[in-house]
Amino acid sequence: MSKGKLFVVAGPSGAGKATLVHALLAADAKVQLSVSFTSRAPREGEQDGRDYHFVSREDFLARVNRGEFLEHAEVHGNLYGTSQKWITDSMASGLDILLEIDVQGAQQVRRLFKEAVGIFILPPSGDILEQRLRNRGTESEDAIVRRLANAREEISRVEEFDYVIVNEHIDQAVRDIIGIVRAERCRLAAQSERHQALITSLKG
Ligand code: 5GP
Repeated sequence: MSKGKLFVVAGPSGAGKATLVHALLAADAKVQLSVSFTSRAPREGEQDGRDYHFVSREDFLARVNRGEFLEHAEVHGNLYGTSQKWITDSMASGLDILLEIDVQGAQQVRRLFKEAVGIFILPPSGDILEQRLRNRGTESEDAIVRRLANAREEISRVEEFDYVIVNEHIDQAVRDIIGIVRAERCRLAAQSERHQALITSLKG
C-alpha cells in the first residue's frame, strides 16, 4: 500500500482552522486528524481523546523525555505535542494525516518530512481576527491579548507554507482546503505509484 500524505494546517488562533479542518474531515473519509497532547485545561464541551489528550504538565514533560513526540511546542503558555507513534502507524497504513498545529511545530514537521504539505489559514483582516477571538467567549482578556500578539508572529511565517487560504467566506475556504487535498493526491509521484499497472497497460 502506498504511504499516506501528511498535511500540516497552521494559522493564528481565530483564523478558523478548526472549523475548516472539521469540514474537510466530514467531506473526505481518507483524511485522519491527529489528536494532540496538551497541558492546557479542557474548554467547556471539549472531550479527552477526541479534541486533545489532556495531560498534566509533568506527564507531558515525561513524554518529551521518553521521545514520544514527533514535534512539540509551547503555545500561549501551554504545551502541545504530536504523537510520533500514531503518525508513523497511520501513514504506513496508507491514510492521509492532518496535523492542526502551530508554526513552530509545522517547522519541526517539515524538517522530518520534506514532502509534508503546509497549508496556512489567514483571517480576512486583523479586526475580524480580534472579533472572532472575542466572540468565542472561552478566553480571558489576558489570553486574548496574548493570542493577538502571537498572531502577528505566526503570520510573519506564512511564506514557509505551500498553500494559503483566506478564510473570509467559510464555504469558499472549505472548497479551497478540499481542493488542495485532492490536487495533492493527483500529483504525478503519487499517481504513478498508485496506478502503475494502468499507466503501463495504457502505454501499450
Ligand atoms: P488551542 O489551545 O486554541 O486549542 O490551540 C492553540 C494553538 O496550539 C493552535 O495554534 C493549535 O494549532 C496549536 N496546537 C494544537 N496542537 C498542537 C500540537 O500538537 N503541536 C503544536 N506545535 N501546536 C499545536
